[in-house]
Amino acid sequence: MTETSTQDPATQYQRVMLKISGEALMGDQGYGLHPPTIQRIAKEVQTVHEMGVEICMVIGGGNIFRGLQGAAQGMERTTGDYMGMLATVLNALAMQSALEGLGIFTRVISAIPMDQVCEPYIRRRAVRHLEKKRVCIFAAGTGNPYFTTDTGAVLRASEMSCDAIFMGKNGVDGVYDKDPAKHDDAKRYDKITYDEVLAQHLGVMDATAIALAQGNSQPIIVFPLDEPDGFRKVLAGEGTFTTVSG
Ligand code: UDP
Repeated sequence: MTETSTQDPATQYQRVMLKISGEALMGDQGYGLHPPTIQRIAKEVQTVHEMGVEICMVIGGGNIFRGLQGAAQGMERTTGDYMGMLATVLNALAMQSALEGLGIFTRVISAIPMDQVCEPYIRRRAVRHLEKKRVCIFAAGTGNPYFTTDTGAVLRASEMSCDAIFMGKNGVDGVYDKDPAKHDDAKRYDKITYDEVLAQHLGVMDATAIALAQGNSQPIIVFPLDEPDGFRKVLAGEGTFTTVSG
């Protein structure tokens, strides 16, 4: 059960997962962390937090390291993947710092225990944090190599009984039939099914993550994170976005 007493009538959502890629934190600098960009995203989260919505977050690590990138350079794949998972912890700590700067109580919860740095993942404890309106940032993906943080986001969203997973994207306002940056006639979907996403290789999330979302009936809503007030708007059903569901 989630507490609904403080919920804003402007949204139907009580508990959500916000998934952003690591690259969303790097701004225009092409690598690493860009504090003004992190601050801007934290403010987006603050707006939704003020609506009384319980917020889970998963942030990727691609702005720092991806396992495949290491494998391409001759590194063992699993080592690269663990490095990628550690990169997500760095990003989570940076976001925690920005949120705390705004006065929002936040917990970083890692799939790989590192007690001096953040909390280990314990499902019931995480649920309790959410009930107390603490933003929970789930770090280190699933804790296993060969997965992505998209799958980690779907997994945690399912475990936390989130109403939906919100995929915040830069430079795109939903799911298109082809790359809108390259094709003028690209068509945006308002709604699309998991099966269509998989069959058409639409790249919303990797196939493992989509299949898990489908299996657990978790809607995925793709929206523009770089649009001012984008997170609040999509939660209120405003603006443009794509819903992926059954
Ligand atoms: N990763 C992993 N297992 C997980 C989640 C992530 O091994 O459960 C590793 C993987 O190497 C991945 C990297 O962490 O490339 C960073 O995550 P991701 O690529 O999902 O980040 P994003 O593209 O969202 O920034």
